[in-house]
Amino acid sequence: MEKKQYALGIDIGGTNIAYGIVDKFGTLKFEKSVPTSNFKTPIDFINYLFLQNEIQDELTNILGIGIGAPNGNHFKGTIDYAPNLLWKGCIPLKEMFENIFKVPTMLTNDANAAAVGEKFFGCAKDLKNFVTITLGTGLGSGIYINDSIIYGEHGYAGEFGHIRVIPNGRLCKCGRKGCLETYASSSGIVRTFHEMNSDNKSKSILLTYEKITAKDIFKEAQSRDLFATEIVNYTAKILGSALADFCAFSDPKAYVLFGGIAQSGEFFRKKVVKEFEENLLSIFKNKTEIRISSLHDKNAAILGNAASVFLNL
Ligand SMILES: [Zn+2]
Repeated sequence: MEKKQYALGIDIGGTNIAYGIVDKFGTLKFEKSVPTSNFKTPIDFINYLFLQNEIQDELTNILGIGIGAPNGNHFKGTIDYAPNLLWKGCIPLKEMFENIFKVPTMLTNDANAAAVGEKFFGCAKDLKNFVTITLGTGLGSGIYINDSIIYGEHGYAGEFGHIRVIPNGRLCKCGRKGCLETYASSSGIVRTFHEMNSDNKSKSILLTYEKITAKDIFKEAQSRDLFATEIVNYTAKILGSALADFCAFSDPKAYVLFGGIAQSGEFFRKKVVKEFEENLLSIFKNKTEIRISSLHDKNAAILGNAASVFLNL
């Protein structure tokens, strides 16, 4: 009898932990989300997970476990001093999982998991060289070049959100100024709203919002509010230009945009492409694509972490 092979994908966040069993085609057999605060220690969580009926039923079919976590260190298999987790210090998570589940376990950060997810289950199946850009509260990137994830010497490669795009620009939470993610992210877009002086501002519907979000700004831009459109154009300009510069460095076939802002699809993509092409070194012109993730309506984090198992085993 042919053995079915699944991966257990786990996404550990500051608020929730999502997990699921995934097959090689990206079908989620089962998925669940629990509050991270339910577990005082990582061992409490691992024991809970191990005893779940859905996991026990498939235990012999699980090939490996892929975990994405804040400050997840791929090389050491540890979570290193994650500021957003209750679990403090340096946690040897890989070892803890392997002791209980007895299957290979791998740990990575969210951005790399997103890239592997696109390669296996998303819109990058045909690509050997691409970069995923995750546009959330911040900006993350996963670099997949020569058919493998680039980790770098310390596992930190892909901190693209912290390249500086505006000299002496906005203060970033990393302590420096002008980082890309202070402009091209949902929090950056709200900052642009507050900072931008525009002739179109006074008549804008955005001023009627009590607490504005990037989603509101995109929605109003799509409804042709002029001030909202200016904000979106400015965001696309900074992002497109930064992506053009990074081409000179890594020569990807495509960028894959994922996250809240990217969900507006063609509307935002077209604007980014325009700025991107205008800023490219001529040898790259009309060669590099910008795609929108096809995993937005799926649980991309679980899929990406499960895909790491299929990639590595
Ligand atoms: Zn920064």
